Amino acid sequence: MGLSFRTVYGTVLDFLFPKQCLHCTKYGNFICNYCTKHFVRFETELLCHVCHTPLLRTQLETSHARCREFTQLRRVSTSVRFTGITKNLLHELKYNYYFGLAEDVATLMIKTMDLSMLTDTTLVPIPLHWYKKNKRGFNQAELIAKHLVRLSKKSTRVIPLLTRVRNTKTQVGMKKEDRQQNLTNAFKVNPKLLKTIETDTVTLVDDVFTTGTTLEQCAQVLKEHGIKHVDAIVFARG
Ligand SMILES: [Zn+2]
Ligand SMILES: [Zn+2]
Repeated sequence: MGLSFRTVYGTVLDFLFPKQCLHCTKYGNFICNYCTKHFVRFETELLCHVCHTPLLRTQLETSHARCREFTQLRRVSTSVRFTGITKNLLHELKYNYYFGLAEDVATLMIKTMDLSMLTDTTLVPIPLHWYKKNKRGFNQAELIAKHLVRLSKKSTRVIPLLTRVRNTKTQVGMKKEDRQQNLTNAFKVNPKLLKTIETDTVTLVDDVFTTGTTLEQCAQVLKEHGIKHVDAIVFARG
């Protein structure tokens, strides 16, 4: 699927153009340790993934009891806020083909997430539409998922179980109702791959969480196909 060539190509790029901090231009990583400490806003409080107001950690779910009827997701974990430096990081990854960035993203996620979210589950990247994927050559969510497994040394499988069936218009600037409409029936489960899923839980992986509409749509279609629990791990909260 072109990913391996692109990944090799990315490694060659990393070699020719060594990693440099996106913020202070120091060589080594895309976000150096200093800038990680001083400019990355990590999630410090747990917010409900439905109403986005604070939540006390009393149970597994990351939503208020009163919000639960509005969600198909059991837990959503986000690592950083989608501001400044993390916005740049994702922009470079998605549009400037810096594949090495996916590893830096996964490293920050590993530092902050509850690692138990990577066990007894199957990681399913949020898919790009085939057209966007062909154009871009890779799915950043899939790269992040693979790095998460490798860095955490878990044996969790990454399976591209979902595909997009329509080329959804870009979500930026759309009202919530329009987003929902835009995404209705946008995702399909691959029946062959579904047979290979051995876990009750599926964990969606994505780069940015804003309204949660994309994750909810994916969770819904997975549940319709018999997946019991759907969790999500996302790098940045918008
Ligand atoms: Zn720096
Ligand atoms: Zn809530």
